[in-house]
Order: sequence, then C-alpha cells, then structure tokens
Amino acid sequence: MARRYGRDMLAVGPDPAEVVERANASQQPLACLLQSLDRVGGYKEDPLRKKSALLGLILRQRPEAFLRTEPGDEAPPVVDYHVQRSCLRIGLVRVVDPGLGSSLERRELVGARDEAEVRSACYRAVGELARASGRSMGAVDWFLFQNRSRCPEMTEPDCARCPVDSACTHRTELFQPVLRTTFY
Ligand code: SF4
Repeated sequence: MARRYGRDMLAVGPDPAEVVERANASQQPLACLLQSLDRVGGYKEDPLRKKSALLGLILRQRPEAFLRTEPGDEAPPVVDYHVQRSCLRIGLVRVVDPGLGSSLERRELVGARDEAEVRSACYRAVGELARASGRSMGAVDWFLFQNRSRCPEMTEPDCARCPVDSACTHRTELFQPVLRTTFY
C-alpha cells in the first residue's frame, strides 16, 4: 500500500502539498481534494472515501485551516467501525436479517458483502443525521468520534453520560461487523 501511495502520489501531485494547493485554488477545495485522492493508493480503494474525507476534515478544521472552507463544499460521512457500532446501538440503522443480526451480536467474522451492506446503511444514516440536525459533517463526525468512548467495545456503555440516551434504542448487544479491512 505504501508503494502504491508513493507511485500514485508522484503521478497526481507530485507531492501532497501540491495536491492541497491545487484544491485550494479550486471553487470546491474539499471536493477537489477528494477527487485527487480517488487516484491515490491507500485512499482510492474505499468507495465510501473514509480516509480521504477524514483527511479533508482535518485539513480544514486544523487551526492552520490548511484547506479553505466554501459553502456547500461538504464532506461525505466518515464511517469507521466505531460509527457503525453507534449507528446500530442508537437505532439509526436496523438490521432486519436475523442471521446477520445474530452474527453481529456474537461478534463473528462477517463476509465482505454483509459488512458493505451495514456500512453503506450507516453512511446513509450519518448523511441524514447531518441533514436533519442542520450540523456540518465535521460536527456530526466529532460527536460520533467521541461516542466511541461512551459506547465502547469491551466495557459497558455509559448511557447516563450520553447525550442521545433519551432517543437511543440501547441495542447494546449489537457490535460492528467484524472484518479485516484497510478502508478504516
Ligand atoms: S445511550 Fe447508551 S447505548 Fe445509546 S449510544 Fe449512548 S452509550 Fe450507547
């Protein structure tokens, strides 16, 4: 993957600073950055662009504001395994297939297709969450990122301290799809 990254970056950049510079010179810096990273190994493999979206948000939200913010230039949802766990437990995504549901409960290794189904549903749900709440994807991502410690993998969730307690379905038996991936 490191070799692919180096090879592709030479073709696209030729270095990361130039990729960011080019993005900032465009009308939609974040969209331009994502399009560049769609051609770079380590980023281009994931159809949901998790790593590139997160990188874009970081570059934009750093105090240095490496990437310009333009109205309407919104990031796509950033869906890692913590976000999937939160979506499932909160009830933003419901698993209707009983076989898949029990695999998630038992924390079993799932197939790539099942993982993609769950992750895509979470992607759509997080997009809806941003739209319905009127918050930026950066703010929604920050909330979900922090939720990983309130609703952890190995210890009991801390529902009393959780801001979504009153709306949550508390499906704490559910776990994110277990699959080895380099996407997130
Ligand atoms: S209310 Fe509890 S179960 Fe629901 S997301 Fe928060 S910590 Fe997890």
